[in-house]
Order: sequence, then structure tokens, then C-alpha cells
Amino acid sequence: MSLAELVANEFHVALDSVMLLRHSSESVKKLLATGGTVEDYTFTQPTGTAYDYAHPNKQPIELVIVIVQDRVYAVYRVLGIEKEGTTYSLTSAAHQRFDVERSKPPRPARRFLMQPLSSTYTGLAIHGWEGGRSRTAVQRSGGAFFSQISGSVVADKLDSTALNDDLDKQIAESLASTPAQRKQRLTLAPKLPRRIEVTTTAFLRNADVIAEVLLRANGICELCRTPAPFLRKKDRSPYLEVHHRIRLTDGDEDTTANAIAICPNCHRREHYA
Ligand SMILES: [Zn+2]
Repeated sequence: MSLAELVANEFHVALDSVMLLRHSSESVKKLLATGGTVEDYTFTQPTGTAYDYAHPNKQPIELVIVIVQDRVYAVYRVLGIEKEGTTYSLTSAAHQRFDVERSKPPRPARRFLMQPLSSTYTGLAIHGWEGGRSRTAVQRSGGAFFSQISGSVVADKLDSTALNDDLDKQIAESLASTPAQRKQRLTLAPKLPRRIEVTTTAFLRNADVIAEVLLRANGICELCRTPAPFLRKKDRSPYLEVHHRIRLTDGDEDTTANAIAICPNCHRREHYA
């Protein structure tokens, strides 16, 4: 399925009311250098051009999928026209500097009310729009390559462990970057996180083992020997966590011999220290 079809289905809109809009890397670089924002760039469009979400002779646009650096930056629902004016009167001073930089004179324009949507496809790497300025920056249903733009959905299916390992790796990479690199990535990062489906493997733990171990500990952490840090709201019992000495994922037994009741600090230390 094409990216437009996936997103149209996700938000139950007709395919011909979807627009794909790609801000080229060169434009975005200039935009950020002048202090402009992708939002301002997206929300204000010259009237009667291919970018006009309410073009008089074209199907009204309900969903705009914004592509930055060949990834889905955001999906917006067009709620209506907020204001009419010119590309200069409707935008920020920073955006006007951006237009001056690109030698764009003021043009009649519309500022749209746009609602960011939490899409499964935000952040998704896309294919079919490669090659700098050689291809138009906008595609509507029926456009030359509208239906060829797709995303790599399958490669993004993860299990919950892989997801956490992946995040740990990315945090280490982020800490190793320079403050300027991090700042640039943060500016271009989608503001709404992408939702994905993950698969999880769980163990059905024996409640009798947990109860026995909690009674054995009697409110005292079995590692650091200090009393539980607080009482549970629901029954005023001391809060301890039952931890397996050898992890169930490593194939060990769910028995009282393999389990200890410990305080949250000790529990974290067992996993991360
Ligand atoms: Zn402890």
C-alpha cells in the first residue's frame, strides 16, 4: 500500500483529499538558518497554487503528510482557513527573511488552521521521492508519482526488548553528539511521537510464589535489610518487589528458592548495576 493510502485509511478520509508535501533538505536548511519553523512553512500557502489546500479548482485537502529529510515529519488535518493575506503578512519575521533569502516576493496567501495528528507513520522513512529538486515538492491523488510513495512499515516491527535496546543505543549515540548536532535534530524531530505495534513475551507468574516470598521478607528488603520504603495504598502492606535471582528469560524456575523480595532501589541495582 502507498503511504497516502495507509494514512488515508488510518484517519478515514478519502484518498483524493490527501496531499503529500515534501520540504526539500536545502529549503529546510535555509529555513532553520533564518529562524523559521516547518510549521509556519506548512500552514501558510500561496493562494491558487498547487500548494493551496483550498484550491478553487481542485479537490479540497483534508490531510497533509509533511515529508522532511525523506521521513514523515507530521500529519495534519486541515481544519479550515484561519486568515487571508500575503505570504509576508501571514508569517513571522523569521519566515519573511526566509522568503527574502529565496527571492520570493509577497504573494496572495492563506493561513490554514492545522491540527497535528498522532499517526502510526510519523517518523517513518519513505521511498519514491528521492532526488533533490528534480521532482515537484507536492503530490495529490492522480499526481505523477503519488501512488509510488511508500514507507518501510515491515522493517519497523519490533518486540519490546529490541525496542528498549534500540533506545539505549540511540541515547548513547545522542550523548556522543555535539550540542549543535542534537539541537538541529531536536528542531527537525516530529513533535508527536510515532506509535508502533510491538510484540511482547510474558511469563504467567505463580501468585503463591510471590505471596510466600513477601511473607518471608516480612517488610524488610532481603538484600539491603532496610524496611520497605512505603506502604501500598490499597492494603497498607509494605511495598517490596519480588525479583528472580536468575531471570525467567534465562530459563530459570519460578520458585520461592529462585525469588527474593527487595526494595525498588535494590531491584533497579540488580538489573542495571
Ligand atoms: Zn534493598
